[in-house]
Amino acid sequence: MNDCLFCKIIKGDIPSDKVYEDEEILAFKDINPAAPIHILVIPKKHISSLIDIEPEDEMLIGKIYSVINKIAEQQGVKEKGYRVIVNCGEDGGQEVMHLHFHLLAGRKLGEKII
Ligand code: AMP
Ligand code: ZN
Repeated sequence: MNDCLFCKIIKGDIPSDKVYEDEEILAFKDINPAAPIHILVIPKKHISSLIDIEPEDEMLIGKIYSVINKIAEQQGVKEKGYRVIVNCGEDGGQEVMHLHFHLLAGRKLGEKII
């Protein structure tokens, strides 16, 4: 997608602080961190939102969670724990329309709403 911010980051047109990359997935530090560790994990395939996932994407989504675990280990937060958030759509508070998983860690995350 030409006008997608995260597709531009994947292409390297916009710089990012990468922490993980393979052929299907990219992870980079959030520009406005909400916790000491705040990493965005995204598929390189442009999927706009969680609601747009197709059956063919199921393996990819499963792999994203494995990658999140790997990153948590690399970042040294495996033992203490972390939170994964996916905002979906307007009511979910999604601002960037390229599917992304927020990995938050490094402090006690107290603001649970569920
Ligand atoms: P969401 O509100 O779930 O769509 O999250 C979008 C996230 O993207 C926010 O946490 C932003 O801080 C983050 N963000 C926006 N632009 C950039 C960028 N250029 N590099 C890294 N993170 C970004
Ligand atoms: Zn995109």
